[in-house]
Amino acid sequence: MATVNDNYLKLKAGYLFPEIARRVNAFIEANPEAQVIRLGIGDVTEPLPQACRDAMIKAVEDMGDRSSFKGYGPEQGYAWLREKIAAHDFQARGCDIDASEIFISDGSKCDCGNILDIFGDDNIIAVTDPVYPVYVDTNVMAGHTGDINEKGEYEGLVYLPVTAENNFTAEIPTQKVDLIYLCFPNNPTGATATKEHLKAWVDYARANGSIIFFDAAYEAFITDPSLPHSIYEIEGAKECAIEFRSFSKNAGFTGTRCALTVVPKNLIGKSKDGSNVELWKLWNRRQSTKFNGVSYIVQRGAEAVYSEEGQAQTKALISFYLENAKIIREKLTEAGLAVYGGENAPYVWVKTSAGLTSWDFFDKLLQTCNVVGTPGSGFGAAGEGYFRISAFNSRDNVNEAMRRILDKFK
Ligand code: PLP
Repeated sequence: MATVNDNYLKLKAGYLFPEIARRVNAFIEANPEAQVIRLGIGDVTEPLPQACRDAMIKAVEDMGDRSSFKGYGPEQGYAWLREKIAAHDFQARGCDIDASEIFISDGSKCDCGNILDIFGDDNIIAVTDPVYPVYVDTNVMAGHTGDINEKGEYEGLVYLPVTAENNFTAEIPTQKVDLIYLCFPNNPTGATATKEHLKAWVDYARANGSIIFFDAAYEAFITDPSLPHSIYEIEGAKECAIEFRSFSKNAGFTGTRCALTVVPKNLIGKSKDGSNVELWKLWNRRQSTKFNGVSYIVQRGAEAVYSEEGQAQTKALISFYLENAKIIREKLTEAGLAVYGGENAPYVWVKTSAGLTSWDFFDKLLQTCNVVGTPGSGFGAAGEGYFRISAFNSRDNVNEAMRRILDKFK
């Protein structure tokens, strides 16, 4: 009989979101009249910008005409999209990133996992705690960890706690790690990183020959002009960092699917025989072999983000969600809760009240306010005692959820 990848059996059985769904469904069954408001998930709610829709409709028309029809596109993505990204997202911010270093994909989630294909199995890997679970689970699947322990941590991974005590920025490790996942603005804590903090990581990575995986899926939410949007704004980062970006949260592409990964040309890893290998070449080979590119129509939609109208419309989308986050922050503070994040990020990270565990707080909010959030402990052991509220929702839902919380908690 065919054998399976036993590493999958080590995975903590899809615990967080199925458990949320189970509790919400049980509650609704028992209370069919309740109007439950879900502020738990990180999916966008507002429609695609007009500029993106117009560009995609035009692209569909292109596909209907022999002279403009497109078959397989370049695996790396069309040059017209990569050049706009390089110019707007990187060069305009002083980052020396060339279009040839950008790879278009159908999502940052896939890229964060797929990138492990080009790295060896013997790297020491560090993640923050709490963390976007994809970084951990993809390493488990790849066999980079041992079993999970009673604390919910996988043997072999280095966990870097982020809590209010360290302002939600991990301490630079004292031991040597080879691969480090950083995510700013952060999911789930909503924390941001200053240039100084990122510089400390870049200095560490260069001193130790480590590679930083920098997930900037939420960079568009940065409004504080002093904060870096890209790790390449830090000198030396091209020698030690791969950056992931996505159109999911800035332009509402969660269901449309388009993202990008930057692999600088001078980024080096070591082969088993000790020779230097350019990571760009390996990623290019990986993508050309296992990926056939993002659809022409979707890439035209993503390109429209960089038009004048696209820029205005995506800015308006971000401002809308940030205003939601501001309302959540203000109302929860008024309700006596300690809140973090939500200023340059769509997530508000809440300290649970009266020493409740994350799941106790979840139940309390569901039962007394009919509001759903995400228990912080689901993102890692150090998330215990915290709770994530997402600003991705309609204004009416946010206002109503906050009214109920104020009513019950104040
Ligand atoms: N990275 C982080 C930190 C996320 O929170 C998410 C989605 O929630 C993603 C990546 C996934 O992005 P995409 O929709 O491009 O796969």
